[in-house]
Amino acid sequence: MSNPLEQREWTPQPPVSGREHYTYGPSTVPVGSFSADPDPYAPAGPVATWVINPLDGVLLRPHLDPTRLYGCCRRDGLGGPNLLCARCGSEVGIEISDCWTAYDVRLLSTAVSKSPHEPS
Ligand SMILES: [Zn+2]
Repeated sequence: MSNPLEQREWTPQPPVSGREHYTYGPSTVPVGSFSADPDPYAPAGPVATWVINPLDGVLLRPHLDPTRLYGCCRRDGLGGPNLLCARCGSEVGIEISDCWTAYDVRLLSTAVSKSPHEPS
């Protein structure tokens, strides 16, 4: 689901307000790292999420259900998981990339493994 990542402390970004359409917001974690959000992220349900930099996301593809892909100009993530595993098609994460949000990918802790070579 991602390139090899180092865990770093959870340091959420301040809320982002309106920017130009089709611009990306700040990412919560820099490339090469991930962070475990201690709080539930509502659209993910009761599942803990790990935040990665979208540039580290690999083998992910958009959800097939268009209702998961809503947003102003990109994805606001509010419709629930909108990323599928490119290999098996299961729901694995949420892309958040709209003009009024941060620019993050949240992987569902129930759907991904922290170890690099474990088949899922
Ligand atoms: Zn927009």
